[in-house]
Amino acid sequence: MSPRPAHIVIVEDEPVTRTALADYLESFGYRVSDFDTAEKAEKLLAQGTVDLLIADINLAGKDGLEITREQRARSEIGIILLSGRTDDVDRIVGLELGADDYVCKPFNRRELLARVKNLLRRTAAMRALTRRVLHFNGFTFDVGSRQVTNAAGDPIVLTRAEYELLRVFVFNPGTVMDRDRLIAAITHRQDGTNTRTIDVLVQRLRSKLGDDPKAPRIFTTSHGEGYVFTALLD
Ligand code: CA
Repeated sequence: MSPRPAHIVIVEDEPVTRTALADYLESFGYRVSDFDTAEKAEKLLAQGTVDLLIADINLAGKDGLEITREQRARSEIGIILLSGRTDDVDRIVGLELGADDYVCKPFNRRELLARVKNLLRRTAAMRALTRRVLHFNGFTFDVGSRQVTNAAGDPIVLTRAEYELLRVFVFNPGTVMDRDRLIAAITHRQDGTNTRTIDVLVQRLRSKLGDDPKAPRIFTTSHGEGYVFTALLD
């Protein structure tokens, strides 16, 4: 059975551009729904079944930036903005609001197709990652729902930072992770987080998961370097 085709929504008020793009993407097997305003696309987007959104920045009513802000707040949908030559600032704002990519008009449709393919691969990989359920040392870690349970099925309550740190470790088993890399992975901005924060978080994870720092089985200290996730994953 072949997988279902990716569903792409186009919001573009310029009819020729919109129709040509929709036809082009459909010719590559994608399912395409196109709208001339954001408002008309909202009902479909709310269903959560759309894989990728291509939105013009300049639209009557809600513009591409507003759609980006709204969608990013509630979904992991891939977002590509179409921007005019004069939208330099908006393009940057768009990326900051969570758009994944942008294409300048007039665009080369092959280039846009390449970006669509690339982004669909990335979002599919992300989804697979966040749905994963991992097991190590008797613990079950459901990465998507952020739940950790012990062998008896009791939940281990983790803070957001502890969860994010654990996620970085389980996806990099056996690798020495230095503190800077761990900080970069768990904080999404460059604010005063210092490397000591990582030591504290690892200490807390060790304590919650019953890992003895003197005889570690999960988080092994690599002196002068960082930490290694040494538990066996299955
Ligand atoms: Ca427009």
